[in-house]
Amino acid sequence: MTSADPAGRRDGAGAGAARAGRYLDVPLWPWARPPDGPQHLPRRCPAGHQLEPGQLQETPNQDYGVRELVCRHCETQPDGSGRWALVDPSVDAQVTEDRVQPRRLQLVVIPPTIRAGVGLIQLRWGTTIYGQVELSLCPIDRCGLLLDLHVEVRHRRRGVGRVLAHAAAARGTGFAWSANPPEDPGAAAFWAKIATPRAPASPCSHQEAAGLRIEPRWPRWWEKP
Ligand SMILES: [Zn+2]
Ligand SMILES: [Zn+2]
Repeated sequence: MTSADPAGRRDGAGAGAARAGRYLDVPLWPWARPPDGPQHLPRRCPAGHQLEPGQLQETPNQDYGVRELVCRHCETQPDGSGRWALVDPSVDAQVTEDRVQPRRLQLVVIPPTIRAGVGLIQLRWGTTIYGQVELSLCPIDRCGLLLDLHVEVRHRRRGVGRVLAHAAAARGTGFAWSANPPEDPGAAAFWAKIATPRAPASPCSHQEAAGLRIEPRWPRWWEKP
C-alpha cells in the first residue's frame, strides 16, 4: 500500500515528472472517449454512483497526461478520494513504440511478428511499465486468446489490469475470445473480476501453426473460488 510502499512512492517529490517508476497515485478507469464532444462522460462513477450533471467533474491529470474524473458522491466518503484517471483503451488510442511520449500514460502495442502469433499491449509512462497483456488474434477465424495479464506488484489495485483487459478486447471486437489464466487461484479470481473472456483457451489451427501450445488448465476457471 501507499506510504508503506518499500520503493517509496514519494521519492523524488515535487511534481515528480522525472521520477523513475512512478506510483499511480490516482487509480485508473478504462473509458473510451466517444466522438460526440467533450461533455460526454460516464453515466456512473466506477464506484457505482449514478451521475447527474454537476456531480461529476472532469479535469486534466497533468502527471499522467490524461483526463481525470471526480465524483462528488465519492469525494464525501471517508475512504475514497473519488478521483479516477480515464485511460482510453480503444485501438485508436493505442500506440506503437515510435509514438511513445516520455511523460504520458499510454497503451503501447508490440505486434506479433507472424499472423496469429503472440502480441503484447503494455501500459506505460515513458519507459516505466505498469503491466502488460499477452494476446493472440486470428483474423481468419476471428478468435482471440488472452494468454497472460501481468501487473507489477507495486502497481496493483490501481486499475491497471482492467485497463489492459479492455485494451486487449478492443483489438478483437466481435471476435470469439477465450483465455488461459495462470494457475494461481487469486489470479484467476482477478481475471474473472475484470471481465476477461469466460471461455477455456481454444486456439485455432492458425494460432497453433504460429507456435501456440496451450494446455487448458481449468476448463471453467472463472468459477474457481
Ligand atoms: Zn462515486
Ligand atoms: Zn485461425
